[in-house]
Amino acid sequence: MLEIDYLVAGYGGVPVLNGVSVKLSAGEFVGLLGANNAGKTTLINSLSGLVPPMSGRIRFEGQDITNLSPRQRVELGIVQVPEGRMVFPEMSVRENLLLGGINARAQPHRPRQMERVLELFPRLQERLAQHAGTLSGGEQQMLAIGRGLMAEARLLMMDEPSLGLSPLFVQYIFEIIDKLHANGLSILLVEQNLMLTLRHAQRCYVLERGHIAVEGTADVVRDDPRTRSAYLGL
Ligand code: ATP
Repeated sequence: MLEIDYLVAGYGGVPVLNGVSVKLSAGEFVGLLGANNAGKTTLINSLSGLVPPMSGRIRFEGQDITNLSPRQRVELGIVQVPEGRMVFPEMSVRENLLLGGINARAQPHRPRQMERVLELFPRLQERLAQHAGTLSGGEQQMLAIGRGLMAEARLLMMDEPSLGLSPLFVQYIFEIIDKLHANGLSILLVEQNLMLTLRHAQRCYVLERGHIAVEGTADVVRDDPRTRSAYLGL
C-alpha cells in the first residue's frame, strides 16, 4: 500500500532523513520507533506532504505521490493525527469532527462516519457541544483520532498519541488503535513508547538519527542490540 524509497528530507536544505525506506501493506499496523530527534515526525510530515522531499520516492497504492500536495494526499485517504492533538480549541467537539470530514471524498459520508466515531468514543458524544479546548488531554486525543477517521482515512498516521497521557488513557488509546486495525484500517504509529508499541504493532522500524537502524517483527526488534543503542544514543 505504502512504499517509501530512499527518502531524503529535512529543513532549509539540511537533511534530517538520510535515505529512509519503509513499506506498509494494506491492513498492516506498523510502528515507527526512535529516540527524541530521530526524525519520526519529519518522516510522518513527509508522508502527509508537509515536509517536501529532497530526493527519494513515495508511492501509495502504486501511485507516485512524492510531489502531491497535503490536500491531494488527504483525498487519497492518507490522514495524519498530529503530535499534540492540534484540535481547534475555540470550536466545539462537533465542529472539530465535521471539519475532519471536509474533503470532497469524505463530505458525503459525514453523518454515517460521525455515528461511527461517536460509537467508538462515547465520551465525545457526551461532550459534542463543548469547546474542544476544555477537554482533558485524553479526550482531546480521542477527538484528534475521531477527526482523522472523519476524513475517511485509509492509512491513519498517528504521531505519539500516548504523549502526556495517564497510563490508563495510554492503554485505552492503544486498545482503540487495535480495534481500528482489527476493522481493517492501515496504521502507521509513531511512538517513543518502545515496549507498548512492540506489544501492539505487527512490525516496527527503529529510526536512529535519520536512518532505519532496525526493522522487523516485535521479537526481532526487541532482541536486536541496535534497538537499545538507538534509544540510548550509544
Ligand atoms: P520527537 O520524538 O522529539 O518528536 P522526532 O523523532 O519526531 O523527535 P523530528 O521532530 O523529526 O524528530 O526532528 C528531527 C530533527 O529535525 C531535529 O533535530 C529537529 O530539531 C529538526 N527539526 C524538526 N522540525 C524542524 C523545523 N521545522 N525546522 C528545522 N529543523 C527542524
